[in-house]
Amino acid sequence: MVETPPTAANMRLDGGHPALDLVNTLYGQVGKPPEHDVLQTREDLMTFATRVGVATPTASTAALEAARRLRTACEHAFRGQDHDALETAVKRAYRAGHLQAGGWRWPDGDPMSAVHRLAHQAALLLADTEALGRLRGCGDCCWLYLDRSKNRSRKWCSMEDCGTNAKKRRYVEKRRALS
Ligand SMILES: [Zn+2]
Repeated sequence: MVETPPTAANMRLDGGHPALDLVNTLYGQVGKPPEHDVLQTREDLMTFATRVGVATPTASTAALEAARRLRTACEHAFRGQDHDALETAVKRAYRAGHLQAGGWRWPDGDPMSAVHRLAHQAALLLADTEALGRLRGCGDCCWLYLDRSKNRSRKWCSMEDCGTNAKKRRYVEKRRALS
């Protein structure tokens, strides 16, 4: 059976935060080349943006490229590597935005607004030390997520998916060791 690759419309949102779900639009294992990219077209970006609460009625091809760059910047920032690229994206977002009662706003007509809103979300997460204390990397795939479990013991992005995979692999390894 050939598995259908996930799309922006059906990918799991296990990150617990829009900026982490953006990182998770790339599928694969840690330290290995990505296996699948959910963000293929600007429509994918719009679908993803809607699902994580930063919807815009329009997005350009340039916005898709910017979203992919922002994804790499978030990956670096949230894995504690460097924050330079994210800083650049966030500054660009605030230059394009307007500060109003209720917070930062980006015009719906701007095809870059979804990317700016995501950059703003990433900046908020980076400033949230409580959330950062719950930031984890999946023990099986390359995804990041916030561990909201009571005893902070969540090891996988999703128990149904990576948790089961890891268990299966351990079982096979144990059988192999016994034989
Ligand atoms: Zn995982």
